[in-house]
This record gives sequence, structure tokens and C-alpha cells, in this order.
Amino acid sequence: MLGVDDALDRILAVFGPLPPVEVPLLDALGLVLAESVSADASIPPFRNSAMDGYAVRAAETEGATVGRPVRLPVSAHLAAGAEVTAALQAGTAARIMTGAALPLGADAVVRFEETDEETPDGGGAGSPSVAVFRPARSGDNVREAGEDVRRGEAVLAAGIRLRPAEIGLLASLNRSTARVHPRPRVAILSTGDEIVDLGPALRMGQVRNSNGYTLAAMAARFGATPVQLGIARDTVDDLSWKLTTAHDADLLVTSGGVSLGDFDLVKDVLRDTGEVSIWQVRMKPGKPLAFGRVGGRPLLGLPGNPVAAAVSFELFGRPAILKMLGVTDLAPPTVEATVTERLDNRGHRRHYVRAVVGRDRRGDFVVRTAGEQGAGVLSSLARANGLLVVPEHLAVAEPGMRLPVILLDADAPRFPKVDGEAAAAEIAAHQGGGQGV
Ligand code: AMP
Ligand code: MG
Repeated sequence: MLGVDDALDRILAVFGPLPPVEVPLLDALGLVLAESVSADASIPPFRNSAMDGYAVRAAETEGATVGRPVRLPVSAHLAAGAEVTAALQAGTAARIMTGAALPLGADAVVRFEETDEETPDGGGAGSPSVAVFRPARSGDNVREAGEDVRRGEAVLAAGIRLRPAEIGLLASLNRSTARVHPRPRVAILSTGDEIVDLGPALRMGQVRNSNGYTLAAMAARFGATPVQLGIARDTVDDLSWKLTTAHDADLLVTSGGVSLGDFDLVKDVLRDTGEVSIWQVRMKPGKPLAFGRVGGRPLLGLPGNPVAAAVSFELFGRPAILKMLGVTDLAPPTVEATVTERLDNRGHRRHYVRAVVGRDRRGDFVVRTAGEQGAGVLSSLARANGLLVVPEHLAVAEPGMRLPVILLDADAPRFPKVDGEAAAAEIAAHQGGGQGV
């Protein structure tokens, strides 16, 4: 038997970041940048107002108070987007909107709230003036050119994963495309004479092809483009043929046919290619795992049981996909949580227990099982938000132990409140009972 970590090492050795491609900016969201980006212009490109107010020469507002405001004639109106051609006339103010370019000569903006616009006596004739109630300091409410990004500055480093903020930064640099590592294409093939796709009612003995959908959904969630190849019958011909249909896949994933059953042909077909090994991995659920190459493409052969397939894909498929995406942190997102019930783990395998991890009253992580743990019971995986990892050397996990939990929803984590006192009582009872034994 092969340890989980050794199996993962062997698998990951085969993968690397896919060759970079140029994609439209929005398509780059979530992908890893394959170039370093520096600014070929400053952001903002010009000095502008951070507020709605009046652009002034700060020195000309000296000594202004509410009782004795400084009165300045308003010599211009500057809207955002307007081209500013003239300098601010000495001894005047310019009404200015947020984002509008500051006229030459002006060095501060007084906010509307600190002014009062006065119409000229008798209304109509002459230009209005503004009463300024507080002295401005040079630079007040002014955004300098290059305040955000300076021209020539390194803005984004190769290797970062693009989030909305980085997409926006690229847009502000007028980049309509980005050079990224593309999404790997992951082809998914279910195997088994009993497996049927969605549609017809099941006849006795038939099983719905849930794996084809679970695995495609997981691949998409991990950042790949899933390609569903459907179902291969348990015949050498059908299997061999279907495997060749994935010609442009970066990874081929099969489910079923790798265990010891009479009709588990997959392993024979794969073995015959000479490049695929069938491993027994020290884990539960899941144990048989095929890995190698078919037609030059990496193949990951998962067990057929729905939860065994999903857990194996989480452990081995996810990091392989991330590596092709150019991501360097391949470890699963994990928290450490306090176990609240006794869990048997005979057989020296690493047990991935479908679990609900939540927080107790103090905010600490607490974990309980999510129900029935049979390798075919998908509903308890649906109830779980984590996989509690019971190490292979631990025959029993006792309440109160701290163990790692792999988070299944790390991109949108929700941690339910767990009744900390009930959990604590359970832990105390177990520990008390344990001492007597
Ligand atoms: P196998 O590994 O082929 O022996 O399959 C193990 C179990 O998983 C059997 O009960 C299969 O019916 C079930 N199974 C195999 N493939 C799928 C699938 N695509 N969807 C749902 N269950 C499956
Ligand atoms: Mg089968």
C-alpha cells in the first residue's frame, strides 16, 4: 500500500503550469498571471479634485473663519471630464467637481461644506463669489498624478492569482487582455455496464451516473474546464475507444473499474497501455487509484463509489489542476478543530470523515460527523462542509482531540454555530469515562 502523501507526490511530479495564453481581461479572473505588469502611465494621469468644492490658491484663504470669511469671485466651473485649458486667475476660486482636473495655479480644494456661494448683489449681473470659512492648506483634497500608481512602477507580479481588484488595476492601465496560464481541460469518463446517464427511468440493477456530474462540477470549481465524455461499457473496445476521444484534454479522469471486481476491466485496459499503474492507497474512503498516461495524456483513475471518487478527486485532482493553473500553494485549505465524538479508525488507513465544522461560543472550531460514512453515501457529503482527517496511526479519535479538517467550501466558508457546552459535556463525559477504562 502507498501512503496518501507518496501517491500525491508521484502524481504532482507529472504536472506543471500550462503554457501561457493571452485572454480577454474578464476571462482572466481567477487565473494566474504569467507576466509581470508595470505601469506605462500614471494613475491618476493628472492632478484632480478629491471633493466637490472650490479650487483655490491656499495662501489666498489665510485667516478665513465663519465670522470673517474670505470672499473670492468664482471665475470658472470645472466638471469632471472637462478639459482644463486656463490657469486659475489670481484672487479667484473655481467651482470644481470630484475627479475634475485641477487648473494650474490652484493647489487646494475647499469642500462645499466649508463654503457658501453668494450671488452678486441684485442678482443677475456680475459673477458670483464664494465665501470660504476655513483656511485651506496646500494639497487639501487634491489627488496628485501618480498617487495610485506611478508610471514605470511594477504593478502586478507574475504568479499572482487575479481577483477583481487586479482585474480593475489592469483595466485602469488600459489592458484589455492578460497573459495567464489557461484553465486545464479535464475530460471525465464514467465506466460500468450498470451506469446510465440522466433521462431514462432506472431498470433493476442500474445506477445513475452521478460521478460524471460530481467530478465535472468539482473540476469546474477547482478552475478547470470540464469535458464530459459520458459512460464507457465494461468492454475492452468501448473503454479503449472512449479513452481516445479526449484528444485535447490536459487530464483524463475515469471513475470505476479500478477495484478487484470481476468486471473491472479498466485496470486491465489501462495496464495494457503499459503506462498506468494501479495503486492501493492507504486511505478511506477510496483505496484503489490508477495513475499514469494514456495516449500521452495524464490519467487519474478514481474508484467508482461516489464518495470515494469525490474524496480521491479532492485530494489528488484538485492539486493537479491547481498546478496546471500555475498556483503554487497546493495544500488543501485546512483548519484544526476539536473532535466531539469518538471515531473508530481500524485498518491503518487515513480516514477522511465527512464532517460539519463549526464554531463554539468562544469562536473555536469544533467538528462533528455529517452522518453515514459509507463510500456510496453521497448525501452525507452533501451535508458536510469539511473532511475531518483521522491519521492512519490513530485507531480511535477521542472527543477533545484536535485534528485537521479540510474545508470543502473554502471559497465561500460558512461555519455553523455548534453548541459549545453540549460539545464540552460530551468531551468531558468521554474523557472521564476513558480514564476508568
Ligand atoms: P466499481 O469501482 O466500478 O466497482 O464501482 C463501485 C461502485 O460505484 C458500484 O456500486 C458502482 O455502481 C458505483 N459507481 C460506479 N460508477 C459510478 C458512477 N459513474 N456514478 C455513480 N455510481 C457509480
Ligand atoms: Mg464498475
